[in-house]
Amino acid sequence: MVKLLVLGSSCLVSTEKNRPTHLVCIGRRHGLLIDCGVSPRGRLEDLGIGRDAIDDIFITHFHPDHVAGLPLFLMELCMRKRSKPVRIHAGKSVISRIRRMMEMYRWRKLPAQFPIVYRPVEYRRRTRVLSNDEFRVHSSPVRHVVPAMGVRVDFLEDGRSFVYSADTEPSANLVELAGSAGLLIHEATGKGAGHSSAGQAASIARDAKVGKLLLIHTDPYADRKALLKQARAVFSGEVEIAVDRMEIEW
Ligand SMILES: [Zn+2]
Repeated sequence: MVKLLVLGSSCLVSTEKNRPTHLVCIGRRHGLLIDCGVSPRGRLEDLGIGRDAIDDIFITHFHPDHVAGLPLFLMELCMRKRSKPVRIHAGKSVISRIRRMMEMYRWRKLPAQFPIVYRPVEYRRRTRVLSNDEFRVHSSPVRHVVPAMGVRVDFLEDGRSFVYSADTEPSANLVELAGSAGLLIHEATGKGAGHSSAGQAASIARDAKVGKLLLIHTDPYADRKALLKQARAVFSGEVEIAVDRMEIEW
């Protein structure tokens, strides 16, 4: 059975308890990490997810709360003597910045490296990003202040699907990408340039006809009851707010 876990649920301003938003999907043979604002390694190991579990990393956009932990995570895996390659999927400009970051940290000078395979993703609607014997992953561009992509993962084993919005204002591309998915994980930072309120996230869930809405990328100091109330006024399906380390059921 594939597991989907919230490693972090916060917006850019995080706390000790609420780390920046990132997710991990663990199947029988493959693991996917989505976003990497802090290194997830310690938390993954606490959850019983070891050095070789992640094969593919998706970076939705180049903002620190989504990418700043990546060099440390990769270097930690190196120090833990990983030899299996890691594939990184992100927009072209994001990939070139990640390459530069790794060069600035002198990745090539580290002993016993494993291969990093860079996979640029085109910002096109419903682009196929990855397909293996457990997952299909598609992405579509969303509406943030820098180029960003939402991600859809379909599990082949049980037919379940989830969609993660990344950081975005309400996006028609996301409604299309999320169409009839069991679960929409949508940011609810608050209304403003490049972001959405809980009510706006709920309108995307309603329009995409998803089964369940999980609000994420929330301000850790926000009134959670008020966020739920706003979302439930718009979307009649199940609504929850993500918390760090939760396993998502849907
Ligand atoms: Zn963010």
